[in-house]
Amino acid sequence: VRRAAEAVRRTPGWQKVVFIVAGAGTLTYACQDNRALQICDGTGNKKKVVILGTGWASASFLRNIDTSLYDIHVVSPRNYFTFTPLLPSVTCGTVEARSIVEPVRNIVRKRNGTFRFWEAECFKIDPTNKKVHCRSDVGTNIDGNGEFVVDYDYLIVGVGARPNTFNTPGVTENCHFLKEVEDAQNIRKSVLKCFERASLPNLSEEERRKNLHFVVIGGGPTGVEFAAELHDFVNEDLAKLYPDVKKYVNISVIEAGGHILTMFDKRITQFAEEKFKRDGIDLKTNFKVVKVSDKDITMTNPATGEIAVPYGMAVWSTGVGTRPIIMDFMKQVGQEDRRALATDEWLRVQGCEDVYALGDCATIAQRKVMVCSCYSIFKTSHRITISLYGTLELYLKSNQMKGFNDLLKDSDGNSKELKELNIEQFKKALAQVDSQVKMLPATAQVAAQEGSYLANCFNKMKACEENPEGPLRIRGAGRHRFKPFRYRHLGQFAPLGGEQTACQLPGDWVHVGHSTQWLWYSAYARLGKAIHLWKGLQQPIDSNRLIP
Ligand code: FAD
Repeated sequence: VRRAAEAVRRTPGWQKVVFIVAGAGTLTYACQDNRALQICDGTGNKKKVVILGTGWASASFLRNIDTSLYDIHVVSPRNYFTFTPLLPSVTCGTVEARSIVEPVRNIVRKRNGTFRFWEAECFKIDPTNKKVHCRSDVGTNIDGNGEFVVDYDYLIVGVGARPNTFNTPGVTENCHFLKEVEDAQNIRKSVLKCFERASLPNLSEEERRKNLHFVVIGGGPTGVEFAAELHDFVNEDLAKLYPDVKKYVNISVIEAGGHILTMFDKRITQFAEEKFKRDGIDLKTNFKVVKVSDKDITMTNPATGEIAVPYGMAVWSTGVGTRPIIMDFMKQVGQEDRRALATDEWLRVQGCEDVYALGDCATIAQRKVMVCSCYSIFKTSHRITISLYGTLELYLKSNQMKGFNDLLKDSDGNSKELKELNIEQFKKALAQVDSQVKMLPATAQVAAQEGSYLANCFNKMKACEENPEGPLRIRGAGRHRFKPFRYRHLGQFAPLGGEQTACQLPGDWVHVGHSTQWLWYSAYARLGKAIHLWKGLQQPIDSNRLIP
């Protein structure tokens, strides 16, 4: 088989070889002889790059990698990329789900080289033997269990993160998450079901009110955007179609901290809170949800103690946590005390060879952090987040906070402008922290930039190896041949509903209003994704929005 394959490969113009084999043994041998198959498709002498995931980081890597240089294999439970910034709009039908996804095979279509995709989940990374163990639920293999092993020369881990429930009882069973397209579609169905349920005859007022109580847990950008979308959907469309039950609708946002949108400038937070108040969205700050049952949500507040509120539908959006596969991998490489995989500035996972991690599942760890342009500092019971002009964030776990506690005393105990702090004292405290973790925010912007950076390094790798003294090499002992990854912050948006968006651009430029909404549209239109949004805007009641 190998000899035939070599002959085919040496013959110019031949693309394919068909083996006609006799007997099951020969067939099995031919199928298992991976080397022969590699020779056939010309990948025998190329390094094999295995990519886990098809999210922002992995898709960006795929878009930029020169596929003719490597043998590319992708493993992911979904065969498409999702444009997550528009996911909240899918929950209310403003944007159709199909408008925000792109098949992964489409990304590499019409490119030279070998590309293979397997719709499966990787459940174990084995860095010692350079293999990943995968399981597919779309079909079974010869062993009947859908499991298979893929070996790699280079592994790119871009599996993202999962919703963080903080182990709150009842959340997984009773709340919706907003992470995947299916989640957004389920939320949309659920909202409409609540309206239908509330419209049934022989229901008490209390029951109608309960059915139409929509609760969003978490006042971050996703929770806030969803609450704003829902408010518009209810008022612009559903109120006209369900006039009898309109008066029972209530939208609540529950936030454990003192304010919503804390990662944005104070002015944006203030504007959003005032707008929500005007819109009648019930903002419950300083409330921590402790339990969710199928009937009510229990939360605590220092002033009121524990209270339980009945609800119709709840969306849990309190940030992201570590995926089990990453936890297992971190244990193997001696990083078990971290929240995300630590990499160096070239995105190489610390503690193993030829494995790179990017996006939400990874963090760049380094010993020294330059503190010269700090912008704001935010403290919760379990961590401190220091935002340096929005470009990077430093998270410190509670056991690393010692030196900071004196500096961070604030009347409400939640946040303090770093400008008010003595920068020298701050630097001193920072120096006392033994293991400092510089962490970029978990955003699509970071993931996409990391993906394209790494692809460019891979594209130049061969040339660098062949010409080590070439211009790309940074000379000197211990230096790397590529420049380290540097994140370029381009600003952030927070759509607040009612055609108003808050925007914070680099250089402390903050704007909120209708004009920013157009800036937001154009940013996404540039990405070729917002076309359906215009349709949504033109039709005050788009009948399709009402059919999940
Ligand atoms: P993801 O995009 O989550 O991709 C992870 C991939 O890994 C997926 O394809 C998944 O199927 C796959 N995967 C999971 N487990 C496995 C496994 N075991 N084996 C193989 N593959 C696996 N960021 C912004 O910058 N701006 C925004 O406006 C914004 N809005 C957002 C709105 C919403 C509703 C959400 C949920 C997020 C938003 N984000 C936004 C954050 C942004 O989406 C994430 O930071 C980004 O998706 C991270 O990219 P990633 O590639 O690391 O992970």
